[in-house]
Amino acid sequence: MTVDGKTVMITGASRGIGEAAAREFAKAGARVILTARGTDAIERIAAEIGEAAIAVPCDVSRYSDVEAAVAAARDAFGPVDILINNAGVVEPIAHLAGSDPEAWGQVIDINLKGVYYGMRAVLPEMIARGGGTILTVSSGAAHNPVEAWSHYCASKAGAAMLTRMVDKENREDGIRAIGLSPGTVATEMQREIKASGINPISKLEWSDHIPPEWPAKTLLWMCTGDADAFVGEEISLREEAIRRRVGLIA
Ligand code: NAP
Repeated sequence: MTVDGKTVMITGASRGIGEAAAREFAKAGARVILTARGTDAIERIAAEIGEAAIAVPCDVSRYSDVEAAVAAARDAFGPVDILINNAGVVEPIAHLAGSDPEAWGQVIDINLKGVYYGMRAVLPEMIARGGGTILTVSSGAAHNPVEAWSHYCASKAGAAMLTRMVDKENREDGIRAIGLSPGTVATEMQREIKASGINPISKLEWSDHIPPEWPAKTLLWMCTGDADAFVGEEISLREEAIRRRVGLIA
């Protein structure tokens, strides 16, 4: 399996893991749709990538935006073959007892409902065409409570279940749904976590984090047959065996 000539839609492609993934997939011959709220950033990155990329402004917490981005992808390059649900936020970091209900819900809208919206928007066409790949960026926080991250942990746990749901309902339709837990990655999100100073993750050194190119290369590998053993599951880049299998370490 190769991504050459495939249509790949990436949410949250304005920086960090999503930007690195857009560059990695384009290098491998894919046609990439970069989506995010930050229009200037996705337009700049798409222009740098060249003809194989377009930028489509999209707030994943709005289903109409996600539907429109899928339609724009189809118009530009053909139906989406691979969806990468990457958009996510961790702010506002706060203990549950003092959290702002409105802001808490907004994180669920982005990290959980945004993932559902992406899946919902691409699945019917993927099923009708006999298959597709849906990769969702998860987190260790999907499986363990982390102080002051109730919004993030709850949303990531829900998103991890959505990967399992799609696998349960659509594996026989040729849908490959896999989650990626990247470990800690040197992106803007880790700057926000560090600034919070609240939990052990905020105390990590910058050098403890892996570069965003690592999860990007892993997402590319997840589109190959070598990753078929993980369909319906979540892989963790904290595991040396996975890093080796992807070719990130010798
Ligand atoms: P980042 O640099 O802060 O990037 C987050 C991306 O999400 C940006 O492109 C942002 O673009 C986009 N985004 C946020 N809200 C959005 C919305 N409503 N609609 C569309 N796009 C939105 O962080 P990152 O580390 O690359 O994060 C990418 C993913 O990895 C997230 O799902 C995160 O939870 C996950 N993750 C990160 C780490 C880590 O250590 N960094 C660890 C585990 C999991 P705009 O602001 O322009 O919309």
